[in-house]
Amino acid sequence: MKNRFIFILIFIISVFWCITCCAQKNITVKIDGDIVKSDVSPVIVDDRVLVPARSIFEYMGSEVKWNDMAKIASIIRKNDTIHLIIDNNVAVVNGQIVELDVPAKIINGRTMIPVRFVSENLNMEVEWDQVNRTVNIYSKAHEPEKEQSIFKGSINKISVSEGETYVKIKISGAGKLEHSMLKLDDPKRYVYDFKSCMLNTGDLGSLVCSGTYVKSVRWSQYNETTCRVVVDLQKYYFYDYVVDGDDVYIVFDELTPPAVKPSVPDNDESIGEMADKFISGDFTKLSSYAKNKLVIIDPGHGGSEVGTIGMYNGKEIYEKDVNIDICIALEAMLKKCGVSTYMLRDDDTYINISKRPEIANEKDGYFYLCVHNNASENPDVNGVQVYYSETAATFDNMTNREVSKIYYDNIAKLGLKKSGMVDNPKYIVIYKSKMPAIIVENAFMSNPDDLELLMDDEFKVKLAAALCESTIQILNKTTN
Ligand SMILES: [Zn+2]
Repeated sequence: MKNRFIFILIFIISVFWCITCCAQKNITVKIDGDIVKSDVSPVIVDDRVLVPARSIFEYMGSEVKWNDMAKIASIIRKNDTIHLIIDNNVAVVNGQIVELDVPAKIINGRTMIPVRFVSENLNMEVEWDQVNRTVNIYSKAHEPEKEQSIFKGSINKISVSEGETYVKIKISGAGKLEHSMLKLDDPKRYVYDFKSCMLNTGDLGSLVCSGTYVKSVRWSQYNETTCRVVVDLQKYYFYDYVVDGDDVYIVFDELTPPAVKPSVPDNDESIGEMADKFISGDFTKLSSYAKNKLVIIDPGHGGSEVGTIGMYNGKEIYEKDVNIDICIALEAMLKKCGVSTYMLRDDDTYINISKRPEIANEKDGYFYLCVHNNASENPDVNGVQVYYSETAATFDNMTNREVSKIYYDNIAKLGLKKSGMVDNPKYIVIYKSKMPAIIVENAFMSNPDDLELLMDDEFKVKLAAALCESTIQILNKTTN
């Protein structure tokens, strides 16, 4: 009995001592640096600071509700709600049951709640300053930052429409499209940078234009916040920048079709004469059954469509003129060898690109040979290329690659680099043609060495001879 009394006495003394001790060193609560005064001092229970719910949390704009029946204190702040049950280690935070180490308590008739638990669940930061016995609450610390988008606008689609005298680039966007423009040389291009702009078209893209002014349009997310649209040009030209609602148009209008005059001295006669020097004996003999197989010769471009432009001794050289020279010689040679031919143009006539395979189909051609010369932004790129498509019409006993290979090898024998045979179904002349069709790109007019060769009539006649020999070889081989 005596022992029990002593024990109770010690307990009471301890509690008294503790309360005294706590009372001596009052706990301060600061919210965002301001001291919050309350009539009841915060207390420490099991290393946790409990603060009077109302005076502290109402100070920072939270709503504090008390359900006396259920003994539940509810703290509501913005979108967060916390229910604390008195003397219960379980709380409900935004509908989720959460355990807490020290429960809320009623002390001296006041609801005291664990400050760290509540603050942190209300997205505030809490710091305990042991030296000054201060609870620092930072109410804005964890507030989600206002998401200020770095993007003011977006580009969702880029399309190009073109006619003989205009090119219209449509940039379909959303929001604000602010741009700056750079005029760059080598290769000639206009660069439009859209700041604070997101590219929604996929990563990057490009469109090839057939016009004589605009070569292509390409675009990319240039850096984190800039979309770049590049317009590659054959030559500089004035353009209109038109904003229409969310869309932007870059319009090259009233383009003058280039003068319809040969840009190279009229050498047709001499080319023809040189071609005439070849005799059928210089070529593989055409088999008798191949004589009626009609070969459509398509000298690329013509008229206002000049094709690629090479610069030779400060002078613009049009691809259309080089192509026709080669084809005039080619036709003369094929005829001499007994091959049936049809030339889509034998002068500087403009023929629409989609009309070309239609004519070939109308003529019921057996084989369609497009003769072009190439260009690259990189002047070092040179040599012969042949384009074909295995998904287009083919001969019964030869793939289009095999057909291409004959031309490729024969042209390369003239000293041109083999720059690749490309299976590409995108060319309209190839996919629209009902007969096997290939595009021979003899050499690169953008390469000084290749262009030098193409400026030489004798070389063009040799090219024609290589094309003629290749044509006879395939006509002899194919059976359908
Ligand atoms: Zn071409």
